[in-house]
Amino acid sequence: MEINFCGRRALVTGAGKVGIGRETAKALRKTGAEVVALSRSYEDLESLARECPGVQTICVDLADWSATEKALSSIGPVDILVNNAAVAILQPFLAVTEEAFDRSFAVNVKAVLHVSQIVVHQMIERGVPGAIVNVSSQASQCALLDHSVYCSTKGALDMVTKVMALELGPKKIRVNSVNPTVVMTEMGRVGWSDPQKSKPMLNRIPLGRFAEVEDVVHSILFLLSDKSSMITGSCLPVDGGFLAC
Ligand code: NDP
Repeated sequence: MEINFCGRRALVTGAGKVGIGRETAKALRKTGAEVVALSRSYEDLESLARECPGVQTICVDLADWSATEKALSSIGPVDILVNNAAVAILQPFLAVTEEAFDRSFAVNVKAVLHVSQIVVHQMIERGVPGAIVNVSSQASQCALLDHSVYCSTKGALDMVTKVMALELGPKKIRVNSVNPTVVMTEMGRVGWSDPQKSKPMLNRIPLGRFAEVEDVVHSILFLLSDKSSMITGSCLPVDGGFLAC
């Protein structure tokens, strides 16, 4: 399946660390898109720009509403948006702190809404179609130990995805999410590097393995591309069958 993003301009959030966002930015560039990569740590963005010449970068903490507004004020036209940045702060339910709750919702939900508003306003002004993929998780639909806040943010994100699809469909802007199982990135290792946790999780995945970054990137590219032109409002599991059981 040939996917080509020539002539499109993409914004990918959370594209700093070696993970889903960074690899999505690189794949979009490889398939012809102009790419703007946004993340929180300057050094990560510098190394991405070295690795992938031509990628523009924006360094901002998405938890800061006004700094985000300022950083994106002159971003220019965007046809494709990947809301990937997130935090996973794991705490047992009875130990959840206000700080962890607020930061998680600020990055994983509020910033998705805000960045999307900024991008969609200019899509509508320009009268162009658009495609947005929000990076959710299997955790949006299944309870996981110590994940009460993370699961809640991803559950909320799935509903943001669906309501955006409902309201933006008439403007020819499609909005979907991918919902991966565990991926052994920096974030994945925090929750799942202990075999006592990873083994029972693996046993619940019919395909018997965690997802690779590229499994998720391929699904994101499909949902961004015209190959999925009739798909909007969907939350696509990339989970080896975990959510089916
Ligand atoms: P990584 O940890 O590799 O990357 C997350 C990126 O988001 C980092 O570059 C990080 O920058 C950035 N980021 C975090 N907070 C902010 C912020 N406030 N402002 C700007 N950038 C920020 O993550 P993954 O590739 O593992 O995860 C990507 C997405 O996939 C997330 O939405 C995650 O919830 C989801 N997911 C991950 C799974 C996994 O097992 N890994 C499973 C299911 C879903 P910095 O490091 O500088 O903070």
